[in-house]
Amino acid sequence: MKICTVIGARPQFIKAAVVSRAFREHATPVQEVIVHTGQHFDANMSQVFFEELGIPHPNYNLGIGGGTHGQNTGRMIEGIEQVLLQEKPDWLLVYGDTDSTLAGALAAVKLHISVAHVEAGLRSFNRKMPEEINRILTDHAADRLFTPTKTAVNNLSNEGISVSKVQNIGDVMYDAALYYGRMAEQCSQILAMLDLTKKKYVLATLHRQENVDDPERLDNIMQGLAASHLPIVMPLHPRTRNRLQEFAITVPASVKILDPVGYLDMVMLEKNAVLIATDSGGVQKEAYFHKTPCITLRDETEWLELVEIGWNTLVGADVQRIQKAINFDNAIGNQPDWVENVYGDGKAGEKITSSLIEEGKQAI
Ligand code: UDP
Repeated sequence: MKICTVIGARPQFIKAAVVSRAFREHATPVQEVIVHTGQHFDANMSQVFFEELGIPHPNYNLGIGGGTHGQNTGRMIEGIEQVLLQEKPDWLLVYGDTDSTLAGALAAVKLHISVAHVEAGLRSFNRKMPEEINRILTDHAADRLFTPTKTAVNNLSNEGISVSKVQNIGDVMYDAALYYGRMAEQCSQILAMLDLTKKKYVLATLHRQENVDDPERLDNIMQGLAASHLPIVMPLHPRTRNRLQEFAITVPASVKILDPVGYLDMVMLEKNAVLIATDSGGVQKEAYFHKTPCITLRDETEWLELVEIGWNTLVGADVQRIQKAINFDNAIGNQPDWVENVYGDGKAGEKITSSLIEEGKQAI
């Protein structure tokens, strides 16, 4: 069984680390060929994840990044097609919703190579998000759709995708939170390095195009965060750092800007924050996995379950709503009950592996 994995962006490295480990541990040998598109190329957005999470060195690095969506996607399709023609895998495996995801799916489907999509079926219903277009097109090109939630299954069914292609296996990010959460406790020194006291700081991340490319939204968010009584640590995505400079937006004194951190340090920061403020999909869920309340700096979310059970509050880029929600010091003891199994049982990686191998056997 030969599987070609296409990854390119930070959240994909984390998801692929889980599945790649499951491939290596499975009784049936799986030959995984990893293609890194180069979408995220800074060492602290890419290399650190390969090293920390034990992801095998990519077999191919296409070095494509820094262009527009169209330029990147087009060049990636061309590069991935060459790899697929050479490697002839049984499956092409893609994750999430980036340009790398879409490029991988399009290159493979036209060569009649089966496409598996992990994190299928998520919808924000906001077609201005590049991620939303990538998700929809990838799901419609895919032969096997691995969904993290029942909501995702319903979304696919509403779009007429055959249920026979869909497997609801839970969220690989939950597998990652369990496995690397234990490792982070043992290895990470980030709290001491930043002189942070447990539950006495807020963790914030910000990178979505709709927030950081819009000067008004970006400024509103900063004004909202400025109301925090506790220090805020903010590992900053390179895109956000550039936009803050470009728009000359003032970062409040209470916000400590950091370079992006590795995953183990990030997990440690998430576990020990009193509150997380984010526009990241992955970080919203990790807040819940590590039992930290979360406010989401977006108008909508793909992860509705967390809003429904009270572990996430949508505050948009609205100064007053953020100001009101950010002082969450009294949250401890006030949190809703933690609901088990919202995102599966932590065995999504194994289920993906078994499913792909089983399908391969049937084809023989
Ligand atoms: N993350 C990290 N270091 C950071 C910021 C985020 O390791 O400095 C991790 C985070 O824990 C989560 C993933 O990156 O697992 C989320 O990536 P991102 O927010 O870029 O993308 P999204 O989840 O919104 O697609």
